[in-house]
Amino acid sequence: MGLLKKKKKKGGLRIGGAAATQQSTLRPVRLTKLPPCIEHCPSGTDIRGWITTIAQREKFGLSDEEAYKQAWLTLVETNPFPSMMGRVCPHPCEDECNRTAKEGAVSINALERTIGDWALEKKLSLPILEEDKKDESIGVIGAGPAGLSFAYQMARRGYPVTVYEKTSKPGGMVLWGIPFYRQPEDVLQNEIQRIIDLGIELKLNTTVGKDISIDELKSKHKVIFLGIGADKGRLLSAPGEEGPGVFTGTEYLYKVNNGETVEIGKKVAVIGGGDTAIDAARVARRAGAEVTILYRRTRTEMPAIDSEVEDAIKEDIKIEFLVAPIEIKRAGDKVSAVVVQKMELGEPDDSGRRRPVPIEGSEYDVPIDSLIAAISQQADWSPLGELGPEGKWIEADKHGKVRDGLYCGGDALNLGLATIAIGQGRLAAEAADAALREKPEPKSEEIPKIGKDRIKLDFYDEKARVERKHRPTEEWLSKPDEEIDLGITSEQFLEEINRCFSCGLCFGCERCWMYCTPSCFSKVAKLTPGQPFYDIKLDTCDGCKKCADECPCGYIDMQ
Ligand SMILES: Cc1cc2nc3c(=O)[nH]c(=O)nc-3n(C[C@H](O)[C@H](O)[C@H](O)COP(=O)(O)OP(=O)(O)OC[C@H]3O[C@@H](n4cnc5c(N)ncnc54)[C@H](O)[C@@H]3O)c2cc1C
Ligand code: SF4
Ligand code: SF4
Ligand code: SF4
Repeated sequence: MGLLKKKKKKGGLRIGGAAATQQSTLRPVRLTKLPPCIEHCPSGTDIRGWITTIAQREKFGLSDEEAYKQAWLTLVETNPFPSMMGRVCPHPCEDECNRTAKEGAVSINALERTIGDWALEKKLSLPILEEDKKDESIGVIGAGPAGLSFAYQMARRGYPVTVYEKTSKPGGMVLWGIPFYRQPEDVLQNEIQRIIDLGIELKLNTTVGKDISIDELKSKHKVIFLGIGADKGRLLSAPGEEGPGVFTGTEYLYKVNNGETVEIGKKVAVIGGGDTAIDAARVARRAGAEVTILYRRTRTEMPAIDSEVEDAIKEDIKIEFLVAPIEIKRAGDKVSAVVVQKMELGEPDDSGRRRPVPIEGSEYDVPIDSLIAAISQQADWSPLGELGPEGKWIEADKHGKVRDGLYCGGDALNLGLATIAIGQGRLAAEAADAALREKPEPKSEEIPKIGKDRIKLDFYDEKARVERKHRPTEEWLSKPDEEIDLGITSEQFLEEINRCFSCGLCFGCERCWMYCTPSCFSKVAKLTPGQPFYDIKLDTCDGCKKCADECPCGYIDMQ
């Protein structure tokens, strides 16, 4: 610091570096980089873009309302479901956020929910991308996140789109699988309605392959998207499982969310360790049952969302680890017990998790009235004839193309998450549009990544991460359908927005301009979100590297 001199310049204080003793041939370049949050969002959301539009709104000359709207428009370019994803996404974006190197990741998911809810309240319409109407008709099978994401991206490009859905309402597993205390139905339906309002024809109670033949579908549509999900729950293949009192997880959850009364009795065993098992257990608990989850591995290997497991335990749901069901006993017609065998962990299997190995002679009975098998699901290809695969799973290229005119995405490709289904639906739509318009196949841009090592952590003030408020635990079971997660307040929203480092993208902190002795940096007259705040003129640059050294977010490189 002793070497630094300060000089007053028009517009503010500038701090010049000592003249470089040696001329360097390196010159600063402004290089937007890929932050880990965006890299790890399967929907491909421009998280930094929408957050910093709000954080820098004053510099951009935007009112709060204008900034929120612009931010939301950026977000829905790739994800038309921010309110839904802001509730159910396990936010892999946050796991990798560069702010984890300071006091904790930016609460991206809570922010997403807040801006999503704000847009619903304001009744904003989704943005059209191309005004000209196209002739090629598009058929989408399945109104889950994948099918609706594909339909949205095609409709906003001007294509006439028809979505066929076999159930009575759109939403797929987010509607029929996820309980309402996690995903309120009105929020989901309002986000779906916005997509339908783009002019999409939605045909409910229409099973493709049954209510409309494959030949008719093919004659009507130039492009078909398979978004059928994987709603066929698997039973255990254990003796005694056929008959009343045994359900698959998806079957049970569907019935409950469809308003049906399901007789499960007092004691319920749920088999499995994934999201479906936890949701089924918590819903059965809300029906007044004593619930035990039986899982054949340990807590470490459980694939369910961590916080959901914690919440299930708070609801007095028991979890027995390292046990697997081998038989269901019945007294007459009724289920009376599940016979389980103890397990120990052996070598890792194909999934990388340690394989459960049965312990001979360790069997015992767990008395139950009903059993919910939530071990896995698969796609029901049976009505789809020639559109389906020969085996259980269909294969597609990285754009979701199965063959010319046929695309697929979401759980039908592989069991995953809603954010993955949304991302795959969009990628398939971009590829289908390119093929129809005879444009080159879409390519993902190679952008350099920006990791924690390039961020000047000390530049940013300490700010604790905001946390969501939850309904008091005592109310969880007494108000079974009411949303537990209450989100964050509008004040917390603005606090949290300001925690984003803007990794790899200029946010106008002025340090490059302040530290550059030969005045290479000049402020851009009209600032635009996503664009630099400064122009660089290199004729006077001596390559001192101060600007790159001082840039806190790693936007400036020396080349
Ligand atoms: C219980 C449960 C909890 C979950 N929790 C989460 C979570 O918290 N977070 C998360 O991100 N993900 C979660 N998931 C996963 C997520 O719901 C799925 O990854 C996502 O819904 C997949 O979207 P999709 O569009 O591919 O399929 P789906 O959502 O399954 O939608 C497929 C649609 O196609 C329809 N269909 C099927 N066959 C036909 C046909 N022949 N004709 C017409 N229509 C047809 C179905 O009725 C359905 O509406 C959960 C899944 C389950 C089961
Ligand atoms: S969809 Fe999920 S991963 Fe993507 S920004 Fe939202 S919370 Fe993060
Ligand atoms: S600090 Fe902001 S830009 Fe950087 S990884 Fe986190 S959310 Fe993304
Ligand atoms: S130092 Fe600040 S103003 Fe300069 S490029 Fe980096 S972020 Fe932008």
